Amino acid sequence: MTETLLRGRTLSFLRWPDAIDDHGAYSYQEDGGVLIREGRIVATGAYEDVARQAGEGAQKIDHRPHLIMPGFVDAHVHYSQLQVLASYGAELLGWLNTYTFPEETKFRDAQYGRRVARQFLDEMVRHGTTTVAAYCSVHKQSAEAFFEESHARNMLNIAGKVMMDRNAPEGVLDTPQSGYDDTKALIAEWHDKGRQHYAITPRFAITSSPEQMEMAKALAGEFPGLHIQTHLSENHAEIEFTQQLYPWSRDYTDVYEHYGLLGPKTLLGHCIHLSEREADALSDSGSVAVFCPTSNLFLGSGLFDYQRYRTRAKPIRIATATDVGGGTNYSMLRTMDEAYKVIALNGEKLNPFASFWQMTLGNARALSLEDRIGTLDAGTDADIVVLDSRATPIMRLRMEAIESLAAELFLLQTVGDDRAVREVYVAGRPAKGDMA
Ligand SMILES: [Zn+2]
Repeated sequence: MTETLLRGRTLSFLRWPDAIDDHGAYSYQEDGGVLIREGRIVATGAYEDVARQAGEGAQKIDHRPHLIMPGFVDAHVHYSQLQVLASYGAELLGWLNTYTFPEETKFRDAQYGRRVARQFLDEMVRHGTTTVAAYCSVHKQSAEAFFEESHARNMLNIAGKVMMDRNAPEGVLDTPQSGYDDTKALIAEWHDKGRQHYAITPRFAITSSPEQMEMAKALAGEFPGLHIQTHLSENHAEIEFTQQLYPWSRDYTDVYEHYGLLGPKTLLGHCIHLSEREADALSDSGSVAVFCPTSNLFLGSGLFDYQRYRTRAKPIRIATATDVGGGTNYSMLRTMDEAYKVIALNGEKLNPFASFWQMTLGNARALSLEDRIGTLDAGTDADIVVLDSRATPIMRLRMEAIESLAAELFLLQTVGDDRAVREVYVAGRPAKGDMA
């Protein structure tokens, strides 16, 4: 039996932090311990108490003075767009046609997919992210490549091959039947294998015919426990085009509603320009709006109204995500820094505890995975990030004047990136130290 005992400043959230002085929302230990056995956290708390429960042979790793937190969760990212990152000068639909679809055609080659999957998951770990909800390309082998690599690393990830049968080049199209068959085969092969989760993934309404949407509906009916991920209401041209393609629909959201695709396991990327009716529909169904700030700013799509969605009479469940290649950075620290600015433009300020709640427990809850990840609670999987608040010269200097945990977290969020990530544990195993 392998046991690992981590020592450091532990921080884990209990609930949404209402304000910067809402200290009841989290558990923080200046000298904390996390005891890990067989990939699970078995005890957490004051180091002295946790150390007493460790066996003789436990491996002790001292991370003081660094922060030990649950690993970050990224609720929307395209692994097949590693080579699309930093593509200049387009809005959503032009960007898809000019950069994204041509790149995704390469994933027909399984070898290419395997290479990118490896690099992608290396990047996730480097940035402290231990769980993603990922879009693969349309090719079945791209999802196989992703799951093979994720499973070999024992990471808890959600992914799906995109279903798309129109309005894109031939090399990235399936058909209603092949999309259905491939999805079903991938579910049989990969869903619940180790820590892998399959998500039914119609790319978005524009690239799926009504026949394919019917197939997505059938899959959702056959596999009701699975995640569903797609895009909704990202930019105005996309919304208009969707209305032309589905002239009977009341609005964009109605398309997904009509095909039975809303629900508590449904992750809807962007949701920027929702009407009140659409926001109500998301709330009533328990669907999740996924806020991708770096992507929304980079593509000029719009400003997600985080605080309004959260506090309206019918609140919407929210996750945050990088959305690379539309997004510009794999770091959830960089992502929440941009989220802070978008929220500021909407007239509110997100407190640093709420930010760190969001990228850990908040996103785990949005993915309905809070019993496994997102906290340091005993009984959950040992997916952990260790953060160094003095990782760069400016951070070291700035930390000389910082006296509160809130200010330290805000510094990490505002200027931190992969350099602040000292170590990452995936199911209890150090994963960053191993990397080249
Ligand atoms: Zn996306």
